[in-house]
Amino acid sequence: METEYKYICECGDCSYKSNHLGNFKNHQSNKHDYSREWNLCKECNLRFTNYQALISHTSKYHASPEELQRRKNLRSARNKRYRDSH
Ligand SMILES: [Zn+2]
Ligand SMILES: [Zn+2]
Repeated sequence: METEYKYICECGDCSYKSNHLGNFKNHQSNKHDYSREWNLCKECNLRFTNYQALISHTSKYHASPEELQRRKNLRSARNKRYRDSH
């Protein structure tokens, strides 16, 4: 049976896996150059070398970007209704 890891480093051919966010972040700052441009996950602040990796992470561990956008729209629509009725 394969172990499910919570955090998987998707930096090219690096295959570091961890269930601890702290360890994972340590790995990323030790092993990978943080001075380059990263695609940052706004939900958990993990960094990805490419946008596709970020998207697959986001849809796996958080809602999909479309879903997040939908919720955001929903929320602002609700706020607007609330404001309008007062
Ligand atoms: Zn790595
Ligand atoms: Zn995330």
